[in-house]
Amino acid sequence: SEANQAFVTLATSDAYCMGSLVVGKCLRRHGTTRKLVVMVSPNVSREACLSLEDVFDEVIVVDMLDSRDRAHLFWLGRLDLGVTFTKLHSWTLTQYTKCVFLDADTLVLCNVDELFEREELSAAPDPGWPDCFNSGVFVFRPSLETHSRLLEHARMCGSFDGGDQGILNTFFSDWAIKDINKHLPFIYNLSVNAIYTYLPAFHKFGHQAKIVHFLGRNKPWHVPHKQQPFTEVPQWDSNRNLEKFVNLWWAEYYSHTKLQEN
Ligand code: UDP
Ligand code: MN
Repeated sequence: SEANQAFVTLATSDAYCMGSLVVGKCLRRHGTTRKLVVMVSPNVSREACLSLEDVFDEVIVVDMLDSRDRAHLFWLGRLDLGVTFTKLHSWTLTQYTKCVFLDADTLVLCNVDELFEREELSAAPDPGWPDCFNSGVFVFRPSLETHSRLLEHARMCGSFDGGDQGILNTFFSDWAIKDINKHLPFIYNLSVNAIYTYLPAFHKFGHQAKIVHFLGRNKPWHVPHKQQPFTEVPQWDSNRNLEKFVNLWWAEYYSHTKLQEN
């Protein structure tokens, strides 16, 4: 049922908390009926946690150095997979039967509750290698068994890209060919670099975007916010199209909507 379903995001620093806050705010503003969960690491400041608590149903502190034995083994072997390990914690949220994970650097533009009709593991193609899914937006089913298998897989095989996306793609390795229903349309994870790499497609389909992903080194919270008068953005102007999304992100960050009725 809907009560057992949640959107999940993750922040291991105060900077990424700014992103998670925006993820929560835009999901609320677009009227999601699902629960909102954010996982934070213990180093996140009290202030950042408090602002997340205004928006999210649950702020869960996940210990990066998990005391359970298998986790210690994992850490001893693979210290390089730090933040990645934390994302895999999503599978331990067994108070929910189905979840949608959203990276902290995503911006939701409309209601996307229909994602819960999808099955594990549903995700959109990665723009750099479309036979891999991008792990910024994915549908999954929490399960301690899957969690253990994922950790074991990570320990044995590592991650070909050093992050969670590598682990998840070799674990859910039949994604590319098995079931087209597990391919989310690209508009659910529109990486902003597509504005530059395939501008004509962005002209044609960009207005249908449901979730924008600020993938890569430059995050919206790095860009100082400047208040600008609204002007029409020419479609051919990649920089200004990106700027428009960054402005939207800041507008969401500063929004004062009363977020929770309950
Ligand atoms: N993340 C985090 N702290 C970090 C790096 C990453 O909390 O220092 C989380 C955050 O949710 C982020 C996700 O892991 O959105 C994936 O990292 P990122 O979005 O930076 O990778 P990209 O999408 O650019 O490949
Ligand atoms: Mn991301």
